[in-house]
Amino acid sequence: MVRHPFKEELLVVSRIPGFRNLSTSERRKIVVEAAGIDIAELAAFDADGFDVEAASHLSENVLGTFALPVGVATNFTVNGEDVLVPMVTEEASVIAAASNGARFARALGGFRTSSTGSIMQAQIQLVDLVDPHAARLRLLEARTELMELAAAQDPKLAEVGGGVRDLVVRTVNFDDETYVVAHLVVDVRDAMGANAVNTMAEAVADRVAEVAGGRVVLRILTNKADMRLARARAVLDAETLGGPPVVEDMVHAYKLAAGDPYRAATHNKGIMNGISAVVLATGNDTRAVEAGAHSHAVGAEGRYTSLSTFEEDADGNLVATLELPMPVGLVGGATKTHPGARAAVALTGVTSASELAELITAVGLAQNIAALRVLASEGVQRGHMSLHAKNIAIAAGAGPDEIAPVAAQLIAKKNFGHDQAEAALAELRSGR
Ligand code: NAD
Repeated sequence: MVRHPFKEELLVVSRIPGFRNLSTSERRKIVVEAAGIDIAELAAFDADGFDVEAASHLSENVLGTFALPVGVATNFTVNGEDVLVPMVTEEASVIAAASNGARFARALGGFRTSSTGSIMQAQIQLVDLVDPHAARLRLLEARTELMELAAAQDPKLAEVGGGVRDLVVRTVNFDDETYVVAHLVVDVRDAMGANAVNTMAEAVADRVAEVAGGRVVLRILTNKADMRLARARAVLDAETLGGPPVVEDMVHAYKLAAGDPYRAATHNKGIMNGISAVVLATGNDTRAVEAGAHSHAVGAEGRYTSLSTFEEDADGNLVATLELPMPVGLVGGATKTHPGARAAVALTGVTSASELAELITAVGLAQNIAALRVLASEGVQRGHMSLHAKNIAIAAGAGPDEIAPVAAQLIAKKNFGHDQAEAALAELRSGR
């Protein structure tokens, strides 16, 4: 928020014609003057490893780059192979929990994964139709022609084995309207595919309108990527988890999420802690994956529920599964242009978008396993706050040499209050 005393001046501050055409250093001068802060503060936007000029091509009005911790989750075995998982997150205990969940899964072979393949869909909405049901059939009669027209937009995709796979036409009723909605079903291979399918949808729109006898309004992908699902499964040894009572309570914890949206939201947030961190690390679109997950969490019964399942198998072990849309790519978007994303993908060793999607789903499940286990046994706060203690120490003003001793004090006293951190810091500085 720009600190300025008067509203009129605030408006003047944020109205900066031509801002996008300036260099990064010119932009910095303007914003520090407007915000009344020292230009040295913006040195925080100089993340090493990501050249600001390269960053300027990814987004707009760029001032610099914004660094976040990147770490590696350990203990992951996926389909019989060990893999390192790069994760970018600002939240303490996420990477530790993913590594912990993977350790539980590892005892009986780790994660098994599968996926549908990279099928994305674009929607073309038709309005002003006199005969919507007949229009739908006219479009289906023109299916081959429309698919060929769409496919012609992306010869590169065809070259790598992708392309248009189907044309599906639905009707959607709302508020006295019957819309006809055509879906282009496209195999986008190793791309996330949003731009690819949007280009196709725009290219066929005029012809679709002509065939249907109406007017096209929207032409854009759906983030409900339910034809692009990734799945992960793990069998968790009951003894390693802490014995049958822990298994029983983990099932209770899952069932509450399955039956109660208040719990499901937090249960699924835990899954997304792991998923979003890997999606971000690999330069993929976190919002697209999150939107897909939310839409998928509304199950067949039309009610928001758990994305994962937990059940006891015949041997008394706990079986955990996760299935959700996972639209991530290895080409396109920021995946190839962000050097950090390239390094992260190289660390994983994945060679296809499907492989990456499956790995990310395994991480989501590992995160969920760790969260449920800790919730069903000691509760989250002890471990979480211990990891968060350093953060509290920094917030209280601890310098590099003071962070560890102040955090240790907070953990020893089991008091993670800001006041306690300030007191511990003062005590340390006074040499007592
Ligand atoms: P893109 O257009 O940059 O790259 C995809 C293209 O790469 C393909 O169309 C193809 O021509 C080419 N290509 C080369 N080798 C390929 C291979 N092996 N497999 C597949 N394609 C290959 O990007 P995109 O993946 O179409 O779109 C992703 C971007 O779109 C992301 O940045 C995302 O944030 C953004 N986006 C998202 C939404 C949304 O989710 N609602 C909407 C608009 C844009």
